[in-house]
Amino acid sequence: MSGADSRRNFAGKSLFVALMAAACLLITGILVFLWWVQGAGLAAVHPFLPVMTSYFLGFLIMVMVAGTILLLVTTLLGKDILVTRLLRGLAIRLLLPLIEFLGRMAGIHRDRIRQSFISMNNSLVISQRPRVKHDRVLILLPHCLQLVDCDIKVTGDIGKCARCNRCDISGLAGLAEKYRIHISVVTGGTLARKVIMDKRPKLVIAVACEGDLTTGIRDCYPLPVLGILNERPFGPCVNTSVDTAKIDEALRAIVS
Ligand code: SF4
Repeated sequence: MSGADSRRNFAGKSLFVALMAAACLLITGILVFLWWVQGAGLAAVHPFLPVMTSYFLGFLIMVMVAGTILLLVTTLLGKDILVTRLLRGLAIRLLLPLIEFLGRMAGIHRDRIRQSFISMNNSLVISQRPRVKHDRVLILLPHCLQLVDCDIKVTGDIGKCARCNRCDISGLAGLAEKYRIHISVVTGGTLARKVIMDKRPKLVIAVACEGDLTTGIRDCYPLPVLGILNERPFGPCVNTSVDTAKIDEALRAIVS
């Protein structure tokens, strides 16, 4: 990766990293406050309770600070330092809701936070250098990628596309052939979940908007999902497009 690529990559993740550090500080502050106020009340129940609680809260603070520092370093360097999968879980399950809340309080648009989260998630997935057989990679596409006036029904079988090149489905059908991978065009989260249950992939590349990608990445955890944002020149959910070169690049790195 070139220096310019690294800087661009970091710029994408920096907002999430900054909010993550703020969330860590906030949780640590709350735990320290609890640690400080709990002594007298618990001592009245049993003299040993304040000591036990102090150890427990101290342990929680240590785990959280160490986990957040590791997550920051892994995210910034893009290298699998240690327990990346667990760290992705920490960010997705524990920190994301708090980070979205803090971002809203600071007046940052939700989509900006989600774009940064998706960038950080991708970085953590790639840092594990996954190599997956072609038949265990699944690409999920939103149906709004298909031109709205196309009469062909590609949902369920992208191979039916007549390759007229009027929308990106054509190029994506070409990638499905090139890498012999399964691509599904889905109409929503329920169908996406069903396809994942049926195909049992080891890695998913999903194209969608910020909201759907964030929900999908969270719902699929621990299954690794690489999220690629669609472009929406005509507004949401109609005649959207995607940079197929990005998907080709991801597949080159992943498919063994
Ligand atoms: S590229 Fe395929 S899906 Fe898109 S408009 Fe043409 S035939 Fe329809």
